Amino acid sequence: MNTFKHSASKNTSFNSNTFNKRVMHVGEMASGAKLTVPVYSFECQQTDAQPKAPNVYIQANMHGAEVQGNAVIFQLLELLKDCDIQGNITLVPYANPVACNHKNGEYTLGRFDPITGVNWNRMYHFDETVIAPFAEQNIDATEDEIQLKFQQLLLAQIEQKLDHNIWGLTTGQRIAYQLQHMAHQADLVLDLHTGPISSKHLYCPEYAKASASYFDIPHTILIPNEFDGAMDESTFCPWWHLQQAFQAQGRNFVMGEGVFTKESFTVELGSQEQIDLAVAHHDALGILSYLQHKGVVTPQKGQAFLPQKMIRYACYLKNYRALYAPMGGMVDYLAEFGKPLPVGEPLARILRMDNYCASEHNDQHEVGDPLHLISLDRQVLPILHFASASVNQGTELYKVFTDYFEL
Ligand SMILES: [Zn+2]
Repeated sequence: MNTFKHSASKNTSFNSNTFNKRVMHVGEMASGAKLTVPVYSFECQQTDAQPKAPNVYIQANMHGAEVQGNAVIFQLLELLKDCDIQGNITLVPYANPVACNHKNGEYTLGRFDPITGVNWNRMYHFDETVIAPFAEQNIDATEDEIQLKFQQLLLAQIEQKLDHNIWGLTTGQRIAYQLQHMAHQADLVLDLHTGPISSKHLYCPEYAKASASYFDIPHTILIPNEFDGAMDESTFCPWWHLQQAFQAQGRNFVMGEGVFTKESFTVELGSQEQIDLAVAHHDALGILSYLQHKGVVTPQKGQAFLPQKMIRYACYLKNYRALYAPMGGMVDYLAEFGKPLPVGEPLARILRMDNYCASEHNDQHEVGDPLHLISLDRQVLPILHFASASVNQGTELYKVFTDYFEL
């Protein structure tokens, strides 16, 4: 029985949308077992009466332990059954089957390719050298021509890498490029991740700042419009660079408008190693609020998808700071996420039992305190902390907003 195509009888007065499911082959294990990724897609029937809305691509679980996005995609599929959809939507849970299954003891690892050590989310493709020649050759082209031809160029580059490359690809590149090939066909791209133990936060390109207020996410990191290998950057950077290249030749476009509607976000949905379906429902509503704002969806019944009222804080990437453990030890994480922490208030307390009564019973000359408070010289907004209580000196303990402001 196809459990995915649901019966329309449940909501007789509404159209019920059907997503197609296909299984994408992204690699092979040593045994020959296939690595596969499920792809759910909705194709919008275009009518002349209505201009087509942006196309959407959403993926989850590129990092193995960051599983909440799969639950959010489930809830999106449930909610989208009863929406009017004006664009194409592609949803990809379990985007990285290697990372997803990469267990060690009780824990999922899956942040780095275990063979190469490279972060799974730093393997996407962008070749800046194609931008300036394209802008030169198409300086007088219409917006529609630019959109079509540039997208074709981006897709052709990925196809070249995947299909016409005698030197082969790493396991991670093969997965990443296939995902990117789908993402390049969308205008709006969401890559669903989580932190270790974390508040919800959003990585947002600086030019797309206005869109951040449509998500139900209280913390936004504004990232420069440059490529560092991640999915979000790999899909918006080419368009941003193209806009810059046209501008350098005297033709001005506005990012986020017309042919340059491209927006990509990394959505950090909370903590790793857990799913919560009730929270996922709210996360999905927040995403639908953004998609409604972009004209992609409207509910067939009930209220519009409106963003929740909340204080939204933002900071620039350069002010999103990591605090590294000044010593090894056992950490009692004290600071609450999303609550401004005044100067001098402790972020964490580090327990060093080796220092407890050391002078009386040991020959050690060095005697420190068994408890150390860790605080900072400026007000910060704690966003996430390391997943384990035991840390080596130099472990990334907390990540915090500094010099933050309200959106
Ligand atoms: Zn991640």
